[in-house]
Amino acid sequence: MLTPQDEYNHTFDLLRQHHKWFQESIPLIASENIPSPAVREALITDFGNRYAEGWPGERVYAGCRFIDQVEFKCIELMKRLFNAEFIDVRPISGVVANLVVYTAFTEPGDTMMALSIPCGGHITTGKKELGGTAGAVRGLIVEYLPLDYKELNIDVEKAKNRIKELTSKNRAPKLVMFGASVFPFPHPVKELAEEIHSIGGTVGYDAAHVAGLIAGGQFQDPLREGADVVSLSTHKTFFGPQHGGVLSWEKYADKIKRATFPGMVSNHHLHAVAGLAIACAEMLEFGKEYTSQIVKNAKALGQALYERGFNVLAEHKGFTQSHVILIDITKYGDGGTIEETLEKANIIINRNLLPWDIKEGRHFMHPGGIRLGVSEVTRLGMKESEMDEIAEYIKRIIIDNEPLEKIKADVAEFRKNYQTVHYCFENSTEAYKYIKIR
Ligand SMILES: *Cc1c(COP(=O)(O)O)cnc(C)c1O
Repeated sequence: MLTPQDEYNHTFDLLRQHHKWFQESIPLIASENIPSPAVREALITDFGNRYAEGWPGERVYAGCRFIDQVEFKCIELMKRLFNAEFIDVRPISGVVANLVVYTAFTEPGDTMMALSIPCGGHITTGKKELGGTAGAVRGLIVEYLPLDYKELNIDVEKAKNRIKELTSKNRAPKLVMFGASVFPFPHPVKELAEEIHSIGGTVGYDAAHVAGLIAGGQFQDPLREGADVVSLSTHKTFFGPQHGGVLSWEKYADKIKRATFPGMVSNHHLHAVAGLAIACAEMLEFGKEYTSQIVKNAKALGQALYERGFNVLAEHKGFTQSHVILIDITKYGDGGTIEETLEKANIIINRNLLPWDIKEGRHFMHPGGIRLGVSEVTRLGMKESEMDEIAEYIKRIIIDNEPLEKIKADVAEFRKNYQTVHYCFENSTEAYKYIKIR
C-alpha cells in the first residue's frame, strides 16, 4: 500500500502526464475544447469555494458582493451574444440545463419527442429503458423524432405525421427537443414550431454542441425560429469552462429560475460562472472569426478524408455546416477498434453509432461510425491546410496500416507548432501547460 504522501505525489504525476499527452495529441472529440489561459485563471479563484444560492441580488448567502456583480455581468454578456430576453447561468452543465427545461415545462408521465441515440440524440433525451435522463430521471415518455438518414436531419413530414398520430391518441408531446450530439445541419425548428405550438407543446432546443456556433452567427438562431427554451453547454463550441445555461423569453423566466433553484442546484460553481463571463467577452470579440473558421475546417476535414477514400456522410451537402463530421468506417473495421487504434497514435476521436447501426446488429461499444469535431484544433490556430495533414495521418493509420509509433512521433512533431490558444485577448501561457501553485 502506498503512503498518503505517495498517493498524493502519484496523483500529481498522473495529472502531469495527462497534460503532456494532450500537448502531443490531436484532439478531435466534438464535445471538447480548450479554454484560454484567462478562463483557466478564473477557474482557480476563490469563487469556487463559495455559495450563492438564489438569484444575484437576492441571495440566501452573505459574502456575495463581487460574485453577484460577476454573475450579472455574465447574464448581460450572454444576453448580448444570444439576443435572449432571459438567461439562467446557474445550471452547472448541459445535463442539468436539460433537467431544468424538463422540470419547468413538463410533468412526469408527459410525452416528449427527441432524436434517438443512434440518430444523434443524447442520453439526456433518452428513454427510461435506456436509463436516459428524460425517461429514467424525469419520468417522461420519450417518442422519437424521425431522421432522414441521407440528409442527416429531421424528416419534417414524418415528424408532423408522428405529432398528429400521438395527438390523436391523447399523447400530444408536451415538449419537443431539437438538437443533438451529432448535429451537422440546422434542425427544422421553423418548419415544425407552429405544429408543436398548435397542440400546446413547448419547443425546446438543446444547443449543447452548437452554442458557440449560434453565438458566432454561424448556425441557426433557434429563438428567432420559434424555440421557447434553449439549453446550453458552454464548452463544446463555446469558449468554456465546463458549465451550462438556459436561454428563454421573459414570460418563462420565473418557472425556469425556480426549476434551477431550489430545483436543480444549491451551489452553482461560481468559479465557472466567472470563467463563463470571461469566455463571453472573448466570444463577443473573436466569436465570429473563430466559428467561421470552425465550419471551414470541418468541411475541409470532411473533404480531405473523403478524397482519401473514407465514407464521410452527407457528401452531397458538403459534409457539415457545423463543427462535426460523421464517418461510416465499416469498410475498415468498427468504430470502437478504430478509436483505440487512433488513440495509440495520439489522435483522440469518438466511436459513434450510425443511424442504422442497431438495425444492422451493431452496438455502442463497436458501432459503425466515428465522429470528429474540429472546435479544439481550430482554437489552437489550425486552418484548412492542417485539416489536410490530419486527414493524411488518419489515412496512414487506418488505410495504410503504418506503424503507430512512427505516426505518434510525427503527430507530436506536427503539434509543436500549435501550443497556444487563439481567438483570445491574452495567451502568454501555453494551452496545455501544467500550472503548479503549491
Ligand atoms: C453534451 C451534451 C449534453 C450534456 O452536456 P454536459 O455539459 O456534458 O452535461 C446535452 N445534450 C447534448 C445534445 C449533448 O451533446
